[in-house]
Amino acid sequence: MKKAVFLDRDNTLIKDDGYIHEPEKVELLPTVPEGLKLLKKAGYLLIVVSNQSGIGRGYFEEKDFHAVNERLQELLKPHGVQIDDFFFCPHRPDENCNCRKPKTGMVEEAAKKWNIDLSKSFVIGDKEIDVMLAFNAGCKGGILVGSETFQDFLSAAKQILSLTEEK
Ligand SMILES: [Mg+2]
Repeated sequence: MKKAVFLDRDNTLIKDDGYIHEPEKVELLPTVPEGLKLLKKAGYLLIVVSNQSGIGRGYFEEKDFHAVNERLQELLKPHGVQIDDFFFCPHRPDENCNCRKPKTGMVEEAAKKWNIDLSKSFVIGDKEIDVMLAFNAGCKGGILVGSETFQDFLSAAKQILSLTEEK
């Protein structure tokens, strides 16, 4: 079985001032390429799991979400790393779906598709719900990036590596 790091996208990998959906505005956050490369080298799949209620709210369309992902991949390319897959929840909170984080629908779908052992996998995100997702899905851990402990993506990635080495 494989292992993965489930990645929040907005304000974890790319800058987001609110419902980002314009590819030309996509900007990688500092140390993201370095952190992703470390995780990849350690054998983790890199899988984005993203709440995109802006779609359900009618602020933008699904194709805009994909266009932002394509731009993200383009920006990562010169660094020699790519995201392996993208999952998203298009629903509004009141729709009560089972995919909106911190619910586990996206992670479960990814685990089935990629044959992932969740107990060896992690979540990195900028919100409490991302850490809750890790707990709810039975992952090994959830890292809150942008916090006092893990100020940037690279430090979050390094934390995962240190937890990987200890048995
Ligand atoms: Mg976020």
